[in-house]
Amino acid sequence: MKKELIFMGPPASGKGTQTKKLAAETGLVHVDTGSLLREAMAQGTEAGKIAKDYVERGALVPVEVVAQIIKDRLKQDDVQKGFILDGFPRSIEQAEMLDDMLKEIDDGKEVQTKVIYFEIPIENLMERIIYRRSCPKCGAIYNLKTMPIKQEGICDACGSELVQRKDDTEEIAKKRFDTYFEQTAPLIDFYNNRGLLVRLDATGSIDEIYNKLKEVIK
Ligand code: AMP
Repeated sequence: MKKELIFMGPPASGKGTQTKKLAAETGLVHVDTGSLLREAMAQGTEAGKIAKDYVERGALVPVEVVAQIIKDRLKQDDVQKGFILDGFPRSIEQAEMLDDMLKEIDDGKEVQTKVIYFEIPIENLMERIIYRRSCPKCGAIYNLKTMPIKQEGICDACGSELVQRKDDTEEIAKKRFDTYFEQTAPLIDFYNNRGLLVRLDATGSIDEIYNKLKEVIK
């Protein structure tokens, strides 16, 4: 049966870190909307050019641009056994578009869908954002304050130079939280009403959260 997991939660609630671990263990493919947009921006594609202005302001990229990127990705062969969708949908409109996409892509397939809501008080998340660094090559995520790194500024996993995302500043992060509460949080009721929502206590260490995650997706 095809497994479709949708991870939602505020910025820096740990979705990306947990997805990477789960994808490595299960073979489910990590479809990370933010990374797909940043890639398109780096490559200077049409979609990337449009997205840049929105991403740098902490706003949602226009729905048709994101939906096309996600649809193209979800149609590829490697995701046909299952995926973890990280960062999409981020509004009710996007959720309805996702329904339509999946109806078309999954036509006749047996599918199990779960929406995992990363529940965490937002007080500590700003700090996570400001101290977050990531590896542009292998995607590993670090926190300068809480995770010791062997060599300053260098990825432990692959030796590349770590970078800070341009939108990981306090000013832009505040906007991203506003965007989350205005547009994304209504999805909690939307998916709860459909019986798809599973709440995950996203506080604690990475391993503790991962163990809880594995329980809720069984
Ligand atoms: P993330 O890496 O998930 O924190 O996303 C970074 C930025 O990419 C967001 O602040 C938005 O500007 C944009 N973005 C990511 N996912 C979406 C989406 N589903 N819809 C619109 N914009 C998005």
